This record gives sequence, C-alpha cells and structure tokens, in this order.
Amino acid sequence: MQNRRVVATRVSGIQNSATFAVFETVRDLRARGVRVLDLGGGEPDFDTDPHIVGEAATALTDGDTHYTPSRGIPELLTAIAEKLGKDNGITADPAGDIIVTPSAKHALFISLMSLLDPGDEIIIPTPSWVSYASMARLVGAVPVLAELSAADGFRITRQVLEAQVTPRTKVLLINTPNNPTGRALSEREAADVAAFAAAHDLFVVADEIYERIRYDGTPHISLASLPGCAGRTLTVNGFSKGYAMTGWRLGWVSGPSDVIAHVLKAQQHTVGCAGSFVQRGGVAALTGPQDAVREMAAEYAERRALITDGLNALPGIRCTPPDGAFYAFADIRGTGFPGSAAFTEWLLREAGVAVTPGTAFGPGGEGHVRLSFATSRAVIEEALERTAGALARRG
Ligand code: PMP
Ligand code: GLU
Repeated sequence: MQNRRVVATRVSGIQNSATFAVFETVRDLRARGVRVLDLGGGEPDFDTDPHIVGEAATALTDGDTHYTPSRGIPELLTAIAEKLGKDNGITADPAGDIIVTPSAKHALFISLMSLLDPGDEIIIPTPSWVSYASMARLVGAVPVLAELSAADGFRITRQVLEAQVTPRTKVLLINTPNNPTGRALSEREAADVAAFAAAHDLFVVADEIYERIRYDGTPHISLASLPGCAGRTLTVNGFSKGYAMTGWRLGWVSGPSDVIAHVLKAQQHTVGCAGSFVQRGGVAALTGPQDAVREMAAEYAERRALITDGLNALPGIRCTPPDGAFYAFADIRGTGFPGSAAFTEWLLREAGVAVTPGTAFGPGGEGHVRLSFATSRAVIEEALERTAGALARRG
C-alpha cells in the first residue's frame, strides 16, 4: 500500500532553526549540570520593564481576556502610527496601514505569504537571519541568496542585487540593523536599494526589529521613508529586542493599505489576533517612559566595546564593531579551524562557551561565528578568558 503518512515537502525540505538549536543545546547541557556561558541565542537578558508588566497585569485583572480586532486594538495601532511618524518618517494610517501581530516573526511570515506566489523569488542578502530563507520556502517561494562580502564589510551594492534578478523576482528582503553582521544600512546603500527596487518594480520587506539598538549616534534609516518606497515596502518591527519582550510575542507590519488589506486575511485565518493583554503591554511600552530602552541600549554599547576589544585581542580572531543589534560577527579564519561549525563545537566542548556558527546564516557566513552580547558583562568577560585559555592550550 502506498505510504500516505509522509509530511509535506515544504516542512521536510527545511531544517530546524539553528538559533533555537543553540537555545536547546544550552538548556540540555545546563539540565545535566554542565556550566555553559551562553553567547548563542539573540535574546535580551533584561526582564521587561515593570511599568509594561504592570499594565498587562492590570489588563488581565480587568478581564481583558478576549479576542481583539484582528488588526489590533485601536490604542496600539495609534501608538504605532505615532511612533512610525516620529521615529521613522513613515506616514501610516492606524485604520488601514498597520497590523499588530503575535511576534515580528509572524509579521514576516504573513507578509511573505501575501506577497509571494509559489515559484516567485525573494532576494535575501546574506549573511542573514536564519528564518528568512526557510519562511520563503514554507510559503512555496524560492529564496535567492545574494552573498555579501566580508572583505567589503558586508556592504549591500546595486551590483550584488542586480546579479540576482530574474523574471520571477518579486521581493527584496532587507534587515537593518542586520542579524548577524550588525551592519546598518548607510544612506548610500539605502538609496541604492530604493533605486534597485524601483527599477525592477519589486516589493521590499524591511525588517527593522533592531532599530532601537544602535551605536555611534548614527540614525536608523527606514526604507519606507525614502522617495518612491512607501507604496512598495512592508516594514516589520516588534517589541522583542528594544523593549526586552521576547516572551510576549508582539510585533507589527506596516505598509500600503491595499497590500495590508490582503496581509490581514492571512492574519485572520492563522492566529486571528495578537494577545489582548499583551497588546495593552505594547501600548505602555510605546507611550510610557523610554528610560529602560535607553539604559539597555547604553549597556549594550558597553558590552559591544568589551566583546569586540576582547575578540580582537585573541590570536587569529578579528571583529569589526557592529553598527547596531547585539551581535559580534567574528572572523575566525586566522585560527586554523576547518570551518565555523568545527570552531563552534570545539569552543563549546573545550571552553563551555556557546556561539552560533556563521554557516547558519547562509553564504558569506562561513569563517565567522556570531556571539550574542545580550548577556552580562561578567559572562562576556569569562567567555573571553575561557576562549583565550582554550586557544592557548590548543597551541
Ligand atoms: N527578525 C530578526 C532579524 C530577528 O533577529 C528576530 C529575533 N528572533 C526576529 C525578526 C523575530 O522577532 P520576534 O521575537 O518578534 O519574533
Ligand atoms: N533572533 C534571535 C536569534 O537570532 C532569536 C532566535 C530566533 O528567533 O531565531 O538568535
């Protein structure tokens, strides 16, 4: 008899998330009593600010335990529209241009679901976050990976993008600041991306989730604010990183109302809406005091200096300070390891330090490892010492 118990190729054809694999490895080792220093997963070590928690708790005790409008509660949509106008130069109508989603991940997923037909191509500059290519495959699209060069500082150029265009190209995905490289789009790159998208009449999906974690005072550039981009760009953002709200699962997507109207159908038929009391927490986050956001960003800046200086002092390792996000993307080619996976396994075994291999982030990632500095300075210092010791023992 024919075996019908075969899962769909759209899931059998993709891998588990490499970042969640690191989370799980660390959890397993710790459960077995092994002491691990975790520079793997990209998750703030800070707890959510108490005023945000308080608002959600009040919402719960007030009986705010029901479905909300699929688009999100009006107060949060208004708060997001105001934020987009003030911080991002994006004009968004709360009634039609925004959907509140249970996580930025879901915002990305329903956006790709709504823009890409099976066989359509999405250009993803790499190294890139682990989930983009798999999400594209899940919706039946073809991820086209545009490898950026480490020697060129992972700069996005018109040339690199042009080389990937085919008649099936439909979407360009941009992540700024970037996970894992920490690179943020310069004005020049942003203008090139905008001109490229216009020349080929593409949609742009801009993942700006690390917007609030920037260094050196350079401003964040939102692609949708550039001339000619508003009508073709879906901007994804969320609360996980800047507000340390990973466990809340809260994000949003904004864009032109005619496209958002279709994305809303994907939201309605998958999750319906984001959590009711969670959204009340989101309102408090955006409209309340921003001191905690600034304090966390300042702390990340200290850690960034600590980790990049420490890495650059190690033999065979080079690390350019990131422009944003909380990842150091270290070049380990000088250490003589055959690849980043071998280095990562060795580092965990010999030093008890968990990092993510660059290969997890696609072409251009090999030869690098990602170290998350969303962890305390004490952990970073000890991880650097243990790495130095392990490298010295190896000779
Ligand atoms: N985009 C990037 C680049 C990320 O690193 C993450 C973190 N997981 C996300 C999106 C998703 O964030 P969220 O927790 O809101 O799903
Ligand atoms: N964005 C984080 C990371 O890259 C969290 C895990 C995930 O969602 O992939 O580690």
